[in-house]
Amino acid sequence: MTAIAQNLKKILKELPEKVTLIAVSKTKSPDEIMEAYKAGQRDFGENKVQEMVWKQEELPKDIRWHMIGHVQRNKVKYMASFVHLVHGVDSMKLLREINKQGAKHNRIITCLLQVHIAKEETKFGLDERELTSLLLELSDESLVNVDIVGLMGMATFTDNEKQLASEFNYLSDLKARLARDYPQLKELSMGMSGDYQLALEIGSTMVRIGSSIFGSRN
Ligand SMILES: *Cc1c(COP(=O)(O)O)cnc(C)c1O
Repeated sequence: MTAIAQNLKKILKELPEKVTLIAVSKTKSPDEIMEAYKAGQRDFGENKVQEMVWKQEELPKDIRWHMIGHVQRNKVKYMASFVHLVHGVDSMKLLREINKQGAKHNRIITCLLQVHIAKEETKFGLDERELTSLLLELSDESLVNVDIVGLMGMATFTDNEKQLASEFNYLSDLKARLARDYPQLKELSMGMSGDYQLALEIGSTMVRIGSSIFGSRN
């Protein structure tokens, strides 16, 4: 068994049944992705639209591609025909563009709304007030070619468990508070190589793991 297959197997053993493992393959080659594919992995995550597009063209068509990075509106058209889930949606303008491109391809594109949970300024995402106003706007304006199925968050890059737990708990509580009005928010995409075990304890339904599967990136 290859190292990639071994890593996958080890991680899958730790995941509760209903949790989706997204193998984050950014910067990794098609050959490396195929190692994971041959071991049974089908969900892969990329953070750049162009990179995801050429890999999608080259690799098996039953791969489910997750866009986990920040998306520029003018790039949506390149991935609209195939993207499985867009994790980093953080504006109404972007949602309208995803809706428009979804309509062109006669698809409903599923999305998560990215919430800013980290202490760091650099991470993208909505704060709670922006999130609730976006959800309200969405109920007025029906975008029939998008489907919002949950929330995504990126914790601070730290090994301080207390801080990580408080950020994950914040996101999980937010989802719980919104559940009555927005029961469609079922998914919680949180947890990466360094913090996924903690994220799982706090209710993550999707973990995005790169380096623990494929090794470190350059
Ligand atoms: C790169 C990336 C990951 C995976 O990071 P690892 O630490 O390699 O597991 C997860 N989520 C997002 C949004 C990323 O950009």
